Amino acid sequence: MTKQPFVTNEALKEIVKQYPTPFHLYDEKGIRENVKALKEAFSWNLGYKEYFAVKATPNPYLIQILREYGCGCDCSSYTELLLSQSVGALGRDIMFSSNDTPAEEFALAHALGAIINLDDITHIDFLEKTIGEIPKTISCRYNPGGLFKISNSIMDNPGDAKYGMTTEQMFEAFRILKEKGAEEFGIHAFLASNTVTNEYYPALAKVLFEVAVKLQKETGANIRFINLSGGIGIPYKPDQTPNDIRVIGEGVRKVYEEVLVPAGMGDVAIYTELGRFMLGPYGCLVTKAVHEKHTHKEYIGVDACAANLMRPAMYGAYHHITVMGKENEPCDHMYDVTGSLCENNDKFAIDRMLPKIDMGDLLVIHDTGAHGFSMGYNYNGRLRSAEVLLKEDGSTQLIRRAETPMDYFATFDQFPVYEELKKNTEEAERRFGGMKQE
Ligand SMILES: *Cc1c(COP(=O)(O)O)cnc(C)c1O
Repeated sequence: MTKQPFVTNEALKEIVKQYPTPFHLYDEKGIRENVKALKEAFSWNLGYKEYFAVKATPNPYLIQILREYGCGCDCSSYTELLLSQSVGALGRDIMFSSNDTPAEEFALAHALGAIINLDDITHIDFLEKTIGEIPKTISCRYNPGGLFKISNSIMDNPGDAKYGMTTEQMFEAFRILKEKGAEEFGIHAFLASNTVTNEYYPALAKVLFEVAVKLQKETGANIRFINLSGGIGIPYKPDQTPNDIRVIGEGVRKVYEEVLVPAGMGDVAIYTELGRFMLGPYGCLVTKAVHEKHTHKEYIGVDACAANLMRPAMYGAYHHITVMGKENEPCDHMYDVTGSLCENNDKFAIDRMLPKIDMGDLLVIHDTGAHGFSMGYNYNGRLRSAEVLLKEDGSTQLIRRAETPMDYFATFDQFPVYEELKKNTEEAERRFGGMKQE
């Protein structure tokens, strides 16, 4: 199996004339086809709604595309709420699924009319003190503990996760919230991440649906929605079989009809908070080979680094690499593909078999559309790249410019040194032209 980039070599050669590497490129066509398929897969559920996990790709222009298909925003911070507000996602279009939440974030979420998803039972009092009431609609995050298994294979370890309430606490929380005036309830859980199996969502749904039936029966709470959250994964490796969202939707429907419908809960809405599945495969990091080094190993140095894509350094995550224009050449060279950080884990690939790479070759690092740009950081004074949208008609749109040195220095703006930084930056730009973005 091979993984094909969503952009051709010819098209990319034109694109890099306009936007200097490195940059993240997004595929509008792929995004639209995928969100349509997701909606279809859950169309059996009248209240179905996807709340895009903003943290995965916090770009208003990309979120706006998802908004066209009725997606809301899943936020967990102040700035994510502001971003959501700025694309017109307000009120019930916001799911506020946060944890360790500062008071001002609850206040802003409530002011925007967001659905608040409580991570902990102690947050009931904290929220009430902060906003002066308990909202009519409220959700609680569930963590059953233990290991989350599907047919004997361990998917993840919720017992070790900081999120959510225990089973006992869920019952207690629902009782308290009801007493305090809550009228419509939701349940949420996120028990495994990046699952490349069609069985995760149905298995999670079963856990949540069963606890929902008990909660409604024992507390009398009116449960209006069940939020399956994120966790549907993508095949980062070429030999992985992608999830089939239709099979997943059908799997959830089956459990819904087995558990919720007989309990008289056939009108409960299903919500999702997908991030990776929505955009992961529809973004890539475009970078150029700028150095080769032959020492104890063979190294290719590229002009991107872990500041542009942290997953390989942080998780040892695999990201497929295509050397553009050499798709059909034999992968007979073993390379470490590195960035320039003074940090030995700054490697996009280790011992990777690739075609022979020449200086100036364009490399496409796949599947950076979610948890890619957004995890970027500024170590070593490295700057975040631009984001570019490849539109359906083949044209491109800059949807975020690259950072400049003055963005990096911006937080010194109240300090005397700022003028010096500015002067030196301008002079360097004049003399060397570096770091310039049109
Ligand atoms: C990160 C996150 C998501 C999205 O996760 P993916 O793995 O990108 O699907 C959804 N909900 C919450 C609360 C999250 O923290």
